[in-house]
Amino acid sequence: SIMPATLSAISNGAKNGVLFKGGVHVENLAHIKAIAFDKTGTLTNGKPVVTDTYFDSETKKEHILAVTWAIEKESTHPLAEAITAHCKTQLEKNTSPIEAAGITTITGNGVVGFVNQEKWEIGKAQFVDEEEAVRFANGMGTSLAKQGKTIVYVKNSSGIVALFALKDTIRTDTKQAIRALNKSGIHTVMLTGDNEITAKAIAEEAGIAAYIAECLPEEKVNHVKELRKTYQNVAMVGDGINDAPALATANVGIAMGEGTDVALETADVVLMKNDLPKITDAISLSSRMNKIV
Ligand code: ADP
Ligand code: MG
Repeated sequence: SIMPATLSAISNGAKNGVLFKGGVHVENLAHIKAIAFDKTGTLTNGKPVVTDTYFDSETKKEHILAVTWAIEKESTHPLAEAITAHCKTQLEKNTSPIEAAGITTITGNGVVGFVNQEKWEIGKAQFVDEEEAVRFANGMGTSLAKQGKTIVYVKNSSGIVALFALKDTIRTDTKQAIRALNKSGIHTVMLTGDNEITAKAIAEEAGIAAYIAECLPEEKVNHVKELRKTYQNVAMVGDGINDAPALATANVGIAMGEGTDVALETADVVLMKNDLPKITDAISLSSRMNKIV
């Protein structure tokens, strides 16, 4: 049976935009010592835009944009949506659309497709060719990454031919939420599939204590397990399908209200209005309730 104090905490939470899916989660939240955050869509708005581009050949620019559009339009990744929107505005109206075949998404890496039997790879440096990516355009990718931008490279049979830099803004209340958690002695960690340089820039901007970059979706689970060994009681905050296994592995899984259905279903707690600072409020509420019980 559910204690009156627990019920009151649940109803109080609901009034404040924090949905607890059961009394046990109120209790568990009070003991949290570390919180892992997904980056894209959780700490950031999840709506990246293309800020910079570079093409190794001006004459081939149009063709590269058309192929990139044809391949990326098959991907549902937020980066792909931003890239296709950018290509569309850049392409001349009379450019004939290109047919791409065999389009395959490689989770956490990028996407592959074929145009006239030529293979095109679009994605992160390690996915296309890290050494070549570092040298491409005199190391332009590295300097853009230091600004917290995500770099997507385009490679065909002649090597890397283009680069897209995308910037996703951190949520307006992210810094405030992280500061409050750090202050209350809770260890904060960001988990991201993004590269080391970009991850570092975003973590610094958010004020988050630690980060793990180049983290494949399936590796998020292992990092949550590792955190549980050190901190015992760990929460995970996420929004994507990819985050669901990590949400389930944490002592308390917290989903962003505008997250995907799978994340919402898997989570124990839902931030109904994507309101990250509510995590601190919910923790205080839970601690007060535990004292009463
Ligand atoms: P995050 O955890 O930041 O949401 P993901 O794990 O989804 O990132 O992806 C990791 C990296 O793989 C991205 O930063 C990007 O460089 C690359 N990537 C993934 N999907 C795509 C795509 N459709 N197009 C281009 N690059 C992609
Ligand atoms: Mg996400």
